[in-house]
Amino acid sequence: MRNNSDIALALSRVSARYEDEPTDALVIKDISLTVPKGAFVSIAGPSGAGKSTLLRVILGLMPAASGVIQRDFTRAGMVFQNYALFPWLSALDNAGFGLRSAGVDRRERDHIAREKLKEVGLAGFEGHFPGELSGGQRQRVGLARAIAINPDLLILDEPFSNLDTITAAALKEDLLRIWQKYHMSILMVNHLIPDAVELSDTVVVMSAHPGETKRSLAIELPRPRDTRDGKFYRYVDELTAAVRAVS
Ligand code: ADP
Ligand code: MG
Repeated sequence: MRNNSDIALALSRVSARYEDEPTDALVIKDISLTVPKGAFVSIAGPSGAGKSTLLRVILGLMPAASGVIQRDFTRAGMVFQNYALFPWLSALDNAGFGLRSAGVDRRERDHIAREKLKEVGLAGFEGHFPGELSGGQRQRVGLARAIAINPDLLILDEPFSNLDTITAAALKEDLLRIWQKYHMSILMVNHLIPDAVELSDTVVVMSAHPGETKRSLAIELPRPRDTRDGKFYRYVDELTAAVRAVS
C-alpha cells in the first residue's frame, strides 16, 4: 500500500450530475483513479464521456454527488482545449495572468512570464496577441500560463485536440520536457488512446453515458517512447478493447 503522502490526487467512486438537467442522470459514475506524486496519468475516453465534467469536480468547481476525493496538492495549473486566452491581452500578459490573480506584482510576473514563454519556445512573441498566433503557439501560451504559477499538479483538458498532428507532436515533446524538469504530477484527459499511451505512466480508460472508469493500465515502456513499436500497440489495443467492450 502506498503512503497517502505519495499521492497527489485520489478519487474513489466519484459520481456527479448537472442539477439543472431534467433527467437527473449521472454524467460520471463511480470514477476511481489515483495520481501518485510526480506521475503522468491520463484518462482517455470518447467525446461526451464526462472528462471535462470530471476535471470540474476535481477542481472543486462542481460538487460530487457521491464518492471521496483526496487532494494533496497546493496549486493546480490548467491547460484547456480551446486555449482560453484573453484576446485583448498580449502573450506576456496572458502567460502572467495566473500570477496577476495571485497578486504577484507586475515586474515579477513579467519576469516569470517571459521566462516561461521562452521555455515553451515563444521568446520574441511576448507582445503578440492571441489573434496573431497559430493554434500551436496559443496552446504554448496556455502552457506557459499554467506553469508560471509553479503548479504541483498540472491538469490538461484535451490539449492537442485543436492542433494538427505535427504541431501536437512538438507540443507533446515540450510537455514531457517540462514535466521532467519540474517533476509535477500531471492529469491529462484526452479522447485519443495512442496519445495517452505515448505520454503517460498510467492510462485510465473511461466509457460514456455515464462516464465510468473501465480499466487502468500501467504503461511499462521505456522513454522516449517508440510509437511504432509492437509493444506500444499492444497497450493501445488492450485499452481500446476495454472501451469497446462496454460501448
Ligand atoms: P467530455 O469532456 O468527455 O467530452 P463533458 O464532461 O463535456 O464530456 O460532457 C459530459 C456530458 O455532460 C455530456 O452529455 C454533456 O452534454 C453534459 N454536460 C456538459 N456540460 C453540461 C452543463 N453545463 N449542463 C448540463 N449538461 C452538461
Ligand atoms: Mg471535454
